[in-house]
Amino acid sequence: MNELGVYVHVPFCRRRCDYCAFATYTDRDALMERYVAACVADVVRATEAGELCEATSVFFGGGTPSRLPAPWLARILATIPRAPDAEVTVECNPEDASGARLDTYRAAGVTRMSFGVQSTAPHVLAALGRGHDPETVPRAVEAAAAAGFSRVNVDLIYGAAGETDDDWARTIHDVLTLPHPPGHVSAYALTVEPGTPLARDPVRHPDDDVQASRYEMIEAELSATGYRWEEVSNWARPGQECRHNQLYWRQGDYVGIGSAAHSHRGGASGGTRWWNVRTPDRYVAAFEAGRSPVAGEEHVEGDQYELERLMLSLRTPAGVPGSALPDSAELDGLVVREGDRAVLTVRGRLMANAVSSMLLTDAAAPRGTVTGAAPGAGTPGRYPAPL
Ligand code: SF4
Repeated sequence: MNELGVYVHVPFCRRRCDYCAFATYTDRDALMERYVAACVADVVRATEAGELCEATSVFFGGGTPSRLPAPWLARILATIPRAPDAEVTVECNPEDASGARLDTYRAAGVTRMSFGVQSTAPHVLAALGRGHDPETVPRAVEAAAAAGFSRVNVDLIYGAAGETDDDWARTIHDVLTLPHPPGHVSAYALTVEPGTPLARDPVRHPDDDVQASRYEMIEAELSATGYRWEEVSNWARPGQECRHNQLYWRQGDYVGIGSAAHSHRGGASGGTRWWNVRTPDRYVAAFEAGRSPVAGEEHVEGDQYELERLMLSLRTPAGVPGSALPDSAELDGLVVREGDRAVLTVRGRLMANAVSSMLLTDAAAPRGTVTGAAPGAGTPGRYPAPL
């Protein structure tokens, strides 16, 4: 069966975190009901156009999907044709995880919860501009277990100003010693995105060496506790891997619903990507006026498409064919050759972007060399970057 993912973007947040450059808004809640209607109309349009048949995974991301009233999220989900065993993930802020909300999600067919924890140290959360109380984290994870969710992810961020090694170790410990520890952990290096409050405050910018050390800490803790890396920034216990993200990493097909959502369809020699208008206002206006919400499209063919496939695969334990990387001393300690595959070591994962720059395709000579620390662990992997 061919895999097909559906990504639903929910562009509403209670407050703006200092480091966030996602296409999300704190002042558009009045649009929510019309936005939900537009998403439903978009799903119907995509289904009728043959772009969306049976989804094998659905991912509600944002933004903050739990900002929507749960029955409204359920209304969008009910419209999406799904395979019987489809994985359905909803990102949720810990303080939104009431029993009633989680029960509604579960009844609607949600199979997996993802909580934005980031840190369990209050001063680190404050440095990130996050509003939640760390005490809500155990309550959220327990509420998910009580609602019957056996698949839970927590998102963490390391490298914030004021975070010490002890703070990071405590965060990892707090997550792993929950009565129902999550089966999946995503940990991202804090990145400085242009235009954010963090970008305007150099004193709070993260240090590459500190971030590398924090990455090694969590890799060591998780691998000692039965988790395996499934991508540079993601770890899972066996059977708890995220089917939706794995589809991205295999350059699979997905349909994006909502503002700023991207879609991709692959073909024999390349692929097509298209994306919707960035703001919820324009997305709603497009549907209400009977216009397409698509803002742009690109075709990627041949060696460029193959290169993108290799770059994605390199960031996973599948690695790349050994012939896709040069036999260079610069890669010593960064990749291991396993049969006919080349796979990143832990140190290689920290320099994934630099190793990627050495990938070879039929038409490409090496396009770079590995120099200095260039942590690849911070590249967000939740979904393709919005416009
Ligand atoms: S980091 Fe998440 S919760 Fe914070 S503003 Fe961005 S999308 Fe919203």
